[in-house]
Amino acid sequence: MRYNILLLVINLLLVVCNLFGQRRSPLDISIDFEAYDPPSTLVVPENPVERAKFPFVDVHSHHWGLAEKNLDELIAEMDALNMKVVVNLSGRGGERLKNMIDNIKKYGYEDRIVNFTNIELRSIDEPDWAENTLKQLEYDVSIGARGLKIYKSQGMTHRDNAGNRIRINDDRLDPVWAKCGELGIPVLIHSADPKSFWAPHDSLNERWLELKLRPGRKRNANNPASWEAIIGEQHDMFRKHPNTTFINAHMGWFPNDLGQLAKLLDEIPNMYVEIGAVIAELGRQPRMANWFFEQYQDRVLFGKDSYRPEEYPTYFRVLESADEYFPYYKRYHAFWRMYGLDLPDEILEKLYYKNALKIIPRLKEKMWTSD
Ligand SMILES: [Zn+2]
Repeated sequence: MRYNILLLVINLLLVVCNLFGQRRSPLDISIDFEAYDPPSTLVVPENPVERAKFPFVDVHSHHWGLAEKNLDELIAEMDALNMKVVVNLSGRGGERLKNMIDNIKKYGYEDRIVNFTNIELRSIDEPDWAENTLKQLEYDVSIGARGLKIYKSQGMTHRDNAGNRIRINDDRLDPVWAKCGELGIPVLIHSADPKSFWAPHDSLNERWLELKLRPGRKRNANNPASWEAIIGEQHDMFRKHPNTTFINAHMGWFPNDLGQLAKLLDEIPNMYVEIGAVIAELGRQPRMANWFFEQYQDRVLFGKDSYRPEEYPTYFRVLESADEYFPYYKRYHAFWRMYGLDLPDEILEKLYYKNALKIIPRLKEKMWTSD
């Protein structure tokens, strides 16, 4: 009560000041969060990085029209960034994949543009689903697929004939993961979304702006299940298939808890992670991220997800430079500024290509050594 009276007195004083003063007091205006984005006044050395220090493999990309378009333009863009290999995760499988690979071969880029295939999970209850899916995987690998990509719809939206959500660790899917192990191809899997999408959409949510701009991303414990449940199913599936290599997309949604991610990597030796869409999380914790890369340098791959050439330099700058307090390009992912990790060359090389060479079949090491 006394507080309210105090506020009233302050407000009255401000009104009086405004009446007699030349300009409004800055104290009586409020600026909303979306509008408040002042340019930094900090003056420090800036070292933008337009081109990666080492030729790299982007293990998480999506491309359209690969079956028909002229691929010289894509290769020229890749060359400008020093991207040696791009992994298109939208290979789609069967004839559609074949058409893409034929066109890539026609242009002579089969060593530069690599495809992962996809499978259909909604018809899991059809009697011949498992048999057909395994046959498709064998066929896709025989024509050149180098991995399998599982989208986040698995574990989120796919339902079986009984109307139940198909869990990531559903037994009916086991033959698929086992087959990938047999064929020697990795599975890149994206499960769930950032944990903040499950939290209340209020002033305490770091992704408040994203959920405001993209309300369809909001989830709750029953829609479709809790974040912990979906993520837990994924880890369970990794553990069930120790002979299959998994690349957990977006650092498994633990980029903001690298201590926990470290524990998971210790427990699940067949799990790797890639850094697509989470560079702003690394850039806000340069010391912890350096510790993480030092400890897990053999388990992290470079990925970006959305293919926009103009966005890659921000990744390079976070990984390579020692710059301070520079912005990310999407404010709804990160309203904070970032710091360069200044990673040593040995770690950068593993992140950029050496780890990918170990996991993705038939990447040619000589493409690196001949440079
Ligand atoms: Zn993706």
